[in-house]
Amino acid sequence: MIPAPHFAYVTLVTNADYAMGATALANSLRRTGTEAAIVVLHTGGVDATALAPLETLGCRLVEVEHLPLSDAFNERHARGNLHSAAPFTKGRKPAFHSPLDNFCKLRLWKLVEYERCVFIDADAIVLKNIDKLFAYPEFSAAPNVYESLADFRRLNSGVFVARPSEETFRQMLELLDQPDVFWRRTDQTFLETFFPGWHGLPVYFNMLQYVWFTMPALWEWKSISILHYQYEKPWEKDHPKATRLQPLIDLWHCFHTGGHVPEIASLANPDEAA
Ligand code: UDP
Ligand code: MN
Repeated sequence: MIPAPHFAYVTLVTNADYAMGATALANSLRRTGTEAAIVVLHTGGVDATALAPLETLGCRLVEVEHLPLSDAFNERHARGNLHSAAPFTKGRKPAFHSPLDNFCKLRLWKLVEYERCVFIDADAIVLKNIDKLFAYPEFSAAPNVYESLADFRRLNSGVFVARPSEETFRQMLELLDQPDVFWRRTDQTFLETFFPGWHGLPVYFNMLQYVWFTMPALWEWKSISILHYQYEKPWEKDHPKATRLQPLIDLWHCFHTGGHVPEIASLANPDEAA
């Protein structure tokens, strides 16, 4: 009998667009040769056709509910209200992005059958084996670097290491929905508050796509473990930054189709690109 894995990569999809993202992510994880489970948390908003490729890739599909949050909380964090209370000035969120859905990430803490989970956003791809992250403590995350040095003070919740626990989940729900509370960057602001002593992972465990043009000196293909397409998504048609990000978009499509993927370490870094 093959023992059930104690470790899992976990992602979240609440609509068909993110299921597409998760398919590229799952393809990329399979290529690393990991033996950990790949768990896809999905809500009722995703139909079976969109989930089928994930099933083919051997992912464990786990249907989850939205969190039990008050109407006032949901109202404050609804897309229109959040975008006007805390506008995004650096990039643009696609129309299929619903900020409230982000909080479903916290459902990971209910997966108590695993000792450790590594959460990865559905808009990311894994470029090398990262199983060593399962030995890292809760709560580990990489900094939210995409513009300047000051970004190193903040974490990005697109990649993190966590230990599922009913007790932690309960405490999270308690802190999450206080009267008038506003988590301006949703789960990210919440997790930073909940884990003030978070452990910092190297930036290469969550390399944000904008670094390609904002801080090209930091970019080094052979060092990157996870590439994260924050803001505009690589499957959006002709988004405002598509021309500048073309080599990264092309790479994502290789992982999405499951076809040939070039040798990552030999890709041209931005300072060398034509
Ligand atoms: N997500 C989702 N549906 C949504 C919004 C978010 O499934 O409507 C999930 C998905 O895994 C996504 C993650 O939550 O990758 C965070 O959102 P996103 O990656 O779009 O945020 P960004 O990285 O651009 O800040
Ligand atoms: Mn993301």
